[in-house]
Amino acid sequence: MSEKTVLITGASRGIGAATARLLASQNYNVCLNYHRQTQCAEELSTELRQQGCNTLLLQADVSQEAQVKEMFQTIDDTFGPLTHLVNNAGILKPQMRLQDMTADRINEILTTNVTGYFLCCREAIMRMSVNHGGQGGAIVNVSSVAARTGSPGEYIDYAASKGAIDTLTTGLATELAAEDIRVNGVRPGFIYTDMHRDGGEPERIERLKPAIPMQRGGQPEEVAEAIAWLLSDKASYTTGSFIDLAGGK
Ligand code: NAP
Repeated sequence: MSEKTVLITGASRGIGAATARLLASQNYNVCLNYHRQTQCAEELSTELRQQGCNTLLLQADVSQEAQVKEMFQTIDDTFGPLTHLVNNAGILKPQMRLQDMTADRINEILTTNVTGYFLCCREAIMRMSVNHGGQGGAIVNVSSVAARTGSPGEYIDYAASKGAIDTLTTGLATELAAEDIRVNGVRPGFIYTDMHRDGGEPERIERLKPAIPMQRGGQPEEVAEAIAWLLSDKASYTTGSFIDLAGGK
């Protein structure tokens, strides 16, 4: 069994699934978290196992503290302490102006996209930190170019949740730097996944293409490469940093 164990939240589809495939090829034990899409997650797990990767499927809503705790306990029992974390699970809601947003909508965005990342960081720290008997580790938080643009007219709530993730990454990187845990972020934008359908505009990237300096959307695999590098020992002197993957935007 590998000495490297990674948890990827939201691994059933999109950027999370692409990251799982790449890390499976880099000798990690791969823990795949998902929320509702059991079939997608099971198919991915089977695919990775057929390639010789040790996988663990974990259904959990990352916004729910008890479910997050149970998820980490299951990882402990299966692979031992976690060494790497990719906080990736995220949601957005149909495009609208802030004046039309309800508290329920805003709270669902924030508890999933922000509280979920905090809870997974907390559990990871308790296993990775040399102050708690761990061997150190690395965390990558998946933010968004929206943290910089604010997504006016589309979803400021989502953009603000990603702004919070950038602040989390900056603060936590410094807080943990002397405990052998590196914390970095990636800021994707315009990546071909199901997320744009959830925002009510599946063809959003086609509409925005002309305004992207590279004139094209990105593939989940292009984001996965940056995540894998930040997790790896090749990034051993990098913490509190961000890689933007948004075609120059
Ligand atoms: P996606 O294809 O819609 O996948 C979202 C993933 O998150 C799914 O695996 C989903 O699980 C999981 N998820 C949702 N709510 C969850 C919860 N409460 N608990 C656990 N898992 C949950 O999205 P994506 O585009 O790959 O997005 C991945 C990350 O990249 C997100 O943080 C997103 O904000 C960020 N991002 C994406 C883009 C883009 O252009 N696509 C741009 C910037 C940032 P189920 O399949 O089980 O529902």
